[in-house]
Formats: sequence, structure tokens, C-alpha cells
Amino acid sequence: NRQILLDNRPQGEATLANFKLVSTETPALQDGQVLVRHHYLSLDPYMRGRMNDAKSYAACQPLGQVFQGGTVGEVVESRHPRFAVGDKVVGYGGWQEYSVVDANQPGMLKKVDTTRVPLSHYLGAVGMPGVTAWYGLNKIIAPKAGQTLTVTAASGAVGSAFGALARARGCRVVGIAGGPDKCRYVTDELGFDACIDYRQHGDVKSMSAALKAECPDGIDGHFENVGGYILDAVLLRTNAFARIALCGMIAGYDGQPLPMANPALLLINRIRLEGFIVSEHMDVWPEALAELGQLVGSGKLRPRESIAQGIESAPQAFLGLLKGKNFGKQLVKMV
Ligand code: NDP
Repeated sequence: NRQILLDNRPQGEATLANFKLVSTETPALQDGQVLVRHHYLSLDPYMRGRMNDAKSYAACQPLGQVFQGGTVGEVVESRHPRFAVGDKVVGYGGWQEYSVVDANQPGMLKKVDTTRVPLSHYLGAVGMPGVTAWYGLNKIIAPKAGQTLTVTAASGAVGSAFGALARARGCRVVGIAGGPDKCRYVTDELGFDACIDYRQHGDVKSMSAALKAECPDGIDGHFENVGGYILDAVLLRTNAFARIALCGMIAGYDGQPLPMANPALLLINRIRLEGFIVSEHMDVWPEALAELGQLVGSGKLRPRESIAQGIESAPQAFLGLLKGKNFGKQLVKMV
């Protein structure tokens, strides 16, 4: 069983030297345990916060242990009555090829139906990132049909789900993403009304002009994944009583400062800005996952994936995710 451990903590930017690949035997199962062979590992931006020994919403990842994270796979051995060999499962097995799961612990392992939704999507659109989009849209932005919404990192796991959900509620939705390929995917395949390439608009003035062109009636709700000057530009275009779901600030995860140029706009426009962590709202997960499963099953949401091959590629793919090298949900396929 090959595993990736966190070997040491980053000084500034995370690097490959922070990780270590090792190989171990999987232990014999005890009663109530299940052995899962992972098919895919989920790579998520929040993992960067866990690498530091500093205050963060996610608990710090201990050194010398398997790097934690979401996984999907299949049961290959079971000493638990509710799980049988061959069951497809989503869990939290970490960066390794196999995990031994104590299936009696609530929430550790869930069986999933792969007849209409491919297994990997349970780590993306029909998993944690999808629910994140659902929560920000419905519980914070709570838009009315016809309103204009914007979202950063629009082609990504969270952003793409946000767009599909917002369109289903009859909103005009404008994405912001990096580069022409991502923007084309956002409009042509995800069905957003428009997408702005922030690389063509590298400062507040230019981005704000682009937003004005695509959002002629102003912005009623915004879902923030990145932080920095794009958020400043959005604030300039918000309508009175706009709502902002503050989901992530990936532009600052490797230690970059993210100053806010004009916080007075929050007051002037009477904006409600609310940060949230999806794992603190488990009550909405069943409803959200049901809707997301339908969107994917019916083809209304076609999530894109970036798939790195083999456990050894996980650290490199993760560093790429923090720099926007992924296109859609970043996964690692076990080979
Ligand atoms: P994505 O699939 O969106 O991948 C990350 C994307 O972020 C990249 O593709 C890139 O897109 C963009 N990006 C990366 N670095 C920068 C940068 N410096 N400036 C601008 N854009 C950048 O990841 P997820 O969908 O998994 O996550 C999106 C956000 O949601 C993250 O901020 C994450 O932390 C947050 N999140 C928060 C949760 C919560 O509970 N609050 C739960 C899950 C996710 P592009 O090339 O278009 O810039």
C-alpha cells in the first residue's frame, strides 16, 4: 500500500519536498472494519491550510502521517454487515492506495450508486464541492429569479456546480475564470450567460469595466473563491443589498497578502458578506446532494475533471491546483 505522508511543513510556498512517498502492508481487519481500494483521491484547495501549523478552519495535518483527504473506491474485504465486497464507496481514506475504515464510526464511509453518476463525481459535483456551491447559493445569496450572480474560479469544481444551480433558479450567471479555454467551457458547456477571462483584465479598473459590460443591471449576488483585486472589482459593481458568499480565497493560500482596496463599499452598498464552511452544515447535505445528483444524472451539469495518474503524482498535481493548472475537479487516479 503506497502512501503519501506530510514530511515537513512549508516555509512560504508549498513544495514537493514537503511530501514523502512510502510503502506499507495493510493490517488485518478487525470486526467492524472494511478494506477499501481507492479508485480516485480528491485534491482540494483547503488541504493547503492543513499543511501549516497555524489557525485555520481545517485541523492541522499531523507530520509523518498519511495526508488526509476524500477518496472514492470499492470494498475489497469486509468485516462489517452493511458493506459487501464490490460496494462502491465514498470516504476519507487519504493519499494512499488502500484504507482500512472503521465503518461503525458515523460518516466515515458511504455507499454510492454509480448507475447514473460516475464514481469520481462523488468527490466533485455530487460531493463536498457541489454541496459547497449549493450552500452558498441557497443559504447565503438566496437569489430571486432574474437576478445577476457572479462567481470566481467558475470552471472549477465548486464554480461549475454553482453555475448550474444558479441557472436552474432562473438567474443570470456570469463566471470569472483564467484563460480562453476555461471561459469557453464555462459558457458553451456549462451554460453560463457569460464568462470574463481575468487574465485579460489584470487590475481593478479593467475588471470592473468588464463586469459592467456583462452585468448591465449590476450584481445582486457573488460567490467568492479567489480573493484579491477581482473581489474589489465585484464590489464596485454590486447593487444595494447584494449578498456575497465568501467561500475561498485561493489567491492567498500560499501566503500572499490579499488586501481589500475599498471596504467602505460594503457599507455604501449595505452588502451582506458571509464566510462559511460546508462541513459545518451537514443538515443541508442530503437535499443538496439529491439536487446535484439529478443535475449530473440528467446531463444539465457536465463537470470536467483533471486526472493525474498514480499516487506518486498527487503532490505535483496538488501544487498545480494551487496555481490554477487544473481544469475542473482535480483528482488522482490509482493505477
Ligand atoms: P477549483 O477546481 O476551482 O480549482 C482551483 C481554481 O482556483 C483553479 O483552477 C484556478 O482557476 C483558481 N485559482 C487558483 N489560484 C488562483 C489565483 N492565484 N488567482 C485566481 N484564481 C486562482 O477548486 P475547488 O472548486 O475545489 O475550490 C474552489 C474554492 O472553494 C477554493 O477557494 C476552496 O478553498 C473553496 N472551498 C471552500 C469550501 C468551504 O467550505 N468554504 C469547501 C470547498 C472549497 P482559474 O484558472 O480560473 O483561476
